[in-house]
Amino acid sequence: MEERLVSAEESSFDEDASLRPKTLDEYIGQKDLKQNLTIFIQAALQRNEALDHVLLYGPPGLGKTTLSYILANEMGTQIRTASGPSIEKGGDLAAILSTLQPGDVLFIDEIHRLPKAVEEILYPAMEDFCIDIVVGKESTVRTIRLNLPPFTLVGATTRAGDLTAPLRDRFGIVSQLQFYDLEDLSQIVRRTSRVMGNAIDEQAVLEIARRSRGTPRIANRLFRRVRDFAQVMNNGIIDQKIAAMALDRLKVDHLGLDHVDHQYLRGIIERFSGGPVGLEAIAASIGEEAMTLEDVYEPYLLQIGFINRTPRGRVATPKAYEHLGISYQKDLFG
Ligand code: ADP
Repeated sequence: MEERLVSAEESSFDEDASLRPKTLDEYIGQKDLKQNLTIFIQAALQRNEALDHVLLYGPPGLGKTTLSYILANEMGTQIRTASGPSIEKGGDLAAILSTLQPGDVLFIDEIHRLPKAVEEILYPAMEDFCIDIVVGKESTVRTIRLNLPPFTLVGATTRAGDLTAPLRDRFGIVSQLQFYDLEDLSQIVRRTSRVMGNAIDEQAVLEIARRSRGTPRIANRLFRRVRDFAQVMNNGIIDQKIAAMALDRLKVDHLGLDHVDHQYLRGIIERFSGGPVGLEAIAASIGEEAMTLEDVYEPYLLQIGFINRTPRGRVATPKAYEHLGISYQKDLFG
């Protein structure tokens, strides 16, 4: 399989904990969210209470996990992490919950993928800080109530719409993370180059930021690859020329679109006359998972106005035609 530089999905060898900002101050962008969280944290600290439960949603790589670590750090507490699909049974969740200390953060990534039975145990845990555990067999079956310390659940999801209403309603703070603008991404690239100890010139910063699809994880990943090219081919000097050359070689175009985006857009335009076409049909025609397209690729294409979602399916916009160099004649005659 070809390397997916811009997919924003996590790949462990590329993640570097030292790149994660540790405080809200260091966390770049997401201004409104940060301002609100600063108030909520301060208020909770003043009352000596745990922070209310927080739901963070948005496409992968925008900083949800990073933010949850920051919340624990700012509250002066510990963080435990888990992911929805990894908590298979009620007992798994009980085991995690029983390790929590007062005020701790429990981070559950992909919370929309929690099994139903586990989710139901989470309700009283979130609301009343207790869980009921069933013990014994047959005639000796009984439930034992386990009291928990007050804690903060931070849930992250790429699909807020897939959360059940009872779960969503139990979060006091619900926030959507936005794609980052060019200025924020530039700041992230500069910060990464500083942390990794590689000087970079301003033109190269812009070149990488522009191709990062509004996503910090991608900015960091592109930076690493550009650094490799610079090291081997340019005496370690990261300038615009080497950055552009490296990113072209990696087939990340000047808007940050990769071969999957291109296939996807060409699929709509060439095989389905520009749409409207259902997601499943596009996915099948280019051999991709519909869910990956929807969670990872489409959000940015929507953001930059290359596609529209209509009740009858996806439609490629004139901007997408122009980007691919295909002439747009579609709606001229109705
Ligand atoms: P998500 O959980 O939303 O998939 P992460 O929190 O894992 O995203 O972020 C991916 C990477 O991007 C992190 O390793 C971090 O280095 C970087 N990052 C994310 N948000 C920011 C930010 N606001 N400022 C600086 N770096 C960030």
